Amino acid sequence: MKRIGITGGMGCGKSTVVAEFQQLGIPCFVADTVAAAYYNDPGFLKQVADMLGEKVTRDDGRADKQRIADIVFANPDKLHQLNSLVHPRVMHDFDRFCHQNDAHPYVLFESAILYDYGLDKQMDAVICVYLDLEERIQRLLARDHLTRKQLMDRINRQLPAEQVMMRANYVILNYEGNPRHRQVAYIDKQLKQ
Ligand code: ADP
Repeated sequence: MKRIGITGGMGCGKSTVVAEFQQLGIPCFVADTVAAAYYNDPGFLKQVADMLGEKVTRDDGRADKQRIADIVFANPDKLHQLNSLVHPRVMHDFDRFCHQNDAHPYVLFESAILYDYGLDKQMDAVICVYLDLEERIQRLLARDHLTRKQLMDRINRQLPAEQVMMRANYVILNYEGNPRHRQVAYIDKQLKQ
């Protein structure tokens, strides 16, 4: 069974494309969703607090995600430490997911930051969903309640989309009106060979 990464900057349409692969019956592991669930685990939160040396929960014991984000995005070392806690756990869960789905010819691993942290090395191939920056911003302004500046701050923390596209094995152009279904069907056929 092949492990296929699917990546691209925020707003390019990864979730939309992943939903199309799911409709074809392909098991899809969404790294962000899996990692977000760790913050409901008190044991994990304690590890994060110990590592960052700061309180990371609210008075009711739930994760203070804004505080964690403020700490790590202001300090690259702490961001690196948090990633070294989260990524091995995500990959461990992905291994289990692969074993559970080993009757399928391939599974997808969706992550916006696949190349940023070298997770591509654990994939057999990578699909990049691409859209130019301005088009992404327009879609994100319609999807999220964030300002253009807030979006740019987040986008600028990721590798430029063009670099991601050049390194991928397959590229899906997600412009409105593009024959995305055909591209998805073609890649699916290739991956099943
Ligand atoms: P990502 O998962 O990469 O952040 P999404 O799949 O959430 O991106 O897509 C971002 C926004 O763009 C969503 O609101 C989605 O509905 C919209 N969108 C995705 N693909 C298209 C398309 N081909 N044409 C128009 N809008 C699209």
